[in-house]
Amino acid sequence: MSQSFTPIASLGEFGLIDRMKERLADIPRSENLIEGIGDDAAVYRAGDGKLHVVTTDVLIEGVHFDRTFIPTSFLGWKSIAVNVSDVVAMNAKPLYATVSAGLPRNFSVEMMDGLYDGVAEACKAYGMELVGGDTSTAHALYLSITVIGEVDEKDVVFRRGANVGDFLCLSGDVGGAYAGLKVLLDQREQLENLGESYEPDLEAFQYVIQRQLRPNARLDVIQALKEAGVRPTSMIDVSDGVASEVHHIGRRSGVGATVRIPAVPFDPETRAVADQFLDDIDAYALFGGEDYELLFTVREEDVPKIDEMEGVSVIGNIEVETKGVRAYSPDTGLMPLHPAGYQHFDAPPQPDPGAFGDDEGPSFEDTDFSGDGA
Ligand code: ADP
Ligand code: MG
Repeated sequence: MSQSFTPIASLGEFGLIDRMKERLADIPRSENLIEGIGDDAAVYRAGDGKLHVVTTDVLIEGVHFDRTFIPTSFLGWKSIAVNVSDVVAMNAKPLYATVSAGLPRNFSVEMMDGLYDGVAEACKAYGMELVGGDTSTAHALYLSITVIGEVDEKDVVFRRGANVGDFLCLSGDVGGAYAGLKVLLDQREQLENLGESYEPDLEAFQYVIQRQLRPNARLDVIQALKEAGVRPTSMIDVSDGVASEVHHIGRRSGVGATVRIPAVPFDPETRAVADQFLDDIDAYALFGGEDYELLFTVREEDVPKIDEMEGVSVIGNIEVETKGVRAYSPDTGLMPLHPAGYQHFDAPPQPDPGAFGDDEGPSFEDTDFSGDGA
């Protein structure tokens, strides 16, 4: 008997999710379900004009993090923050979390304390309660977090609401989390090569390391937008890289977009890391993952309000779908922008840092990193 075996890598992460969706297509759909698979969080009606949003993410040792360089308290914080980020991307307020933990034999009570101190700190910072979970042994440290949030039906924002003529906006700066990872991986390599005689210099790169190990969900940004009277037309959080997220908005909204590369902000420390590794800073900013900033679109009439907001940049505009997703810089002109960034189950990308516009897929030089944006 022959049984066919198709490696999941042949579909890639997003192809795999589409395929799962097909298998689930026959399940009768509740009329209260507004958004199922395909956005940052699922959305359903909870009564009284309120919607609930639900998201879940896993963090697995050896895939999403390396326990040798993340303190357990940061890991606890990050596991909550990455989920809050998805809730916030729906313009919703996080309320409740559950944590399921798979613990390996070499995990200590003290590490557990650190982990939960970090979880507690994040819950306090984002105004949430932790209401349950599950605990089991595991071969490697495994965390699965679910966060439930709430939003008025009139305020919810999806990936699918961008319109031609809207402007593309980004909170904060990007590429820092990837730069932090580069630094940490490099330090580990140096330690392995030089042993005890090597003294890591992490002082100089505190900002980018913190971007990688202890990211912040931008609850403050959706609050500021609300205060400014701006309701984004579409929104997504930057977990897999700006280029990848612009593609998600484009695909779900049925639009194209142009990203103005010089308008995409990065921190000077991120630039210093790119320079040190002789990498292209634009590649960090466009394809680096795990920054957990918000990428969103606003109507043209809201642009003056955005211009007045601190820490939010207009980085491009929304165009007709047939134009595709493109990047513009004065040096290179207009060129197609590929999603690149990190995808699970992806074949290793070809080194091609110079060509954003190569039609052969990912153009990021080195996506062999452990972070992925969950
Ligand atoms: P994000 O990066 O914002 O967390 P993902 O790319 O992980 O989003 O997921 C995209 C969509 O696919 C989400 O709606 C998510 O709930 C859904 N999804 C991911 N994995 C599965 C799965 N194994 N089964 C069902 N839905 C899934
Ligand atoms: Mg997301």
